[in-house]
Amino acid sequence: MAQTLIIGAGITGACLAFALSRRGDPVTLVTAHPLGGTASAASFGWLNASFHLNDAHFALRLAGLAAHRTLQALLPDLPTTWPGCLWYEAAGDRFEAVASDLAAKGYPMQRLTGAKVSALTPALGPVPDMALLFTEEGVADPAILARALIAASGARVVQARVDRLTEAEGKVTGVLTDQGPILADRVILAAGIGTADLLRPFGFSLPMLTRPGMTIATEPLPPLCPLILASPGQEVRQDGEGRLIAPAAAAHQSD
Ligand SMILES: Cc1cc2nc3c(=O)[nH]c(=O)nc-3n(C[C@H](O)[C@H](O)[C@H](O)COP(=O)(O)OP(=O)(O)OC[C@H]3O[C@@H](n4cnc5c(N)ncnc54)[C@H](O)[C@@H]3O)c2cc1C
Repeated sequence: MAQTLIIGAGITGACLAFALSRRGDPVTLVTAHPLGGTASAASFGWLNASFHLNDAHFALRLAGLAAHRTLQALLPDLPTTWPGCLWYEAAGDRFEAVASDLAAKGYPMQRLTGAKVSALTPALGPVPDMALLFTEEGVADPAILARALIAASGARVVQARVDRLTEAEGKVTGVLTDQGPILADRVILAAGIGTADLLRPFGFSLPMLTRPGMTIATEPLPPLCPLILASPGQEVRQDGEGRLIAPAAAAHQSD
């Protein structure tokens, strides 16, 4: 049976490992960092299709939401939740443009007045005049999700840095790591911002932004924020332990 080697144990590598294991394929995961990835471990974890750059991107993100629900049906203990999102990142014409674009696409949402926003989130201040409630958006900490998917996949995990892919007669034969070589019939690159370096020797260029990003977490607090909040310039959610979580990279979605 074909041996698959996946480089990367973030959410991308973990999803691939789980999908391949369901087909019965033997999988080895190689990761330089702890299980759960690097960008995945810093992520805000908001599952949405309301933010999108064009119709194709919207369709991809909708498919992602559906895939999260499928995963949850297969693995009911996954930590994914669906609190919905209160969106008021924009006002005026831009707010109306977003509302009409999503309404035309049939995206599940409600338009809320300030009074309704206050009723839903009493701790919120200042309260916007108008907001959209995206009723079917969710949250999944990608690092926790990745670790759960890797465990469920039964993949062999190797903690090592891949220096390069190996090849013979024009065919990839595995990888050379700082722990030695590993043979494989096929190699999948799910190495996040490490992917471009691994492709370069083959003459492929993969342009990627490599901006630093991080998420801020408070100490656990009493229940304050029952929804994902997308306010002007800042997104916030409260996790299952009561911590307020906020991405520090303002442009993390458009990246
Ligand atoms: C602050 C922030 C907020 C975000 N918020 C959201 C959000 O709300 N919603 C959303 O959908 N997305 C969000 N994202 C984006 C999302 O987190 C990333 O797109 C996703 O986590 C990328 O996962 P990945 O598995 O591809 O990469 P990573 O998690 O970066 O994993 C890469 C893996 O590759 C391994 N690796 C790399 N090079 C090598 C090598 N040479 N040898 C061995 N292993 C190697 C690493 O060790 C790691 O395991 C956010 C990102 C950031 C930074």
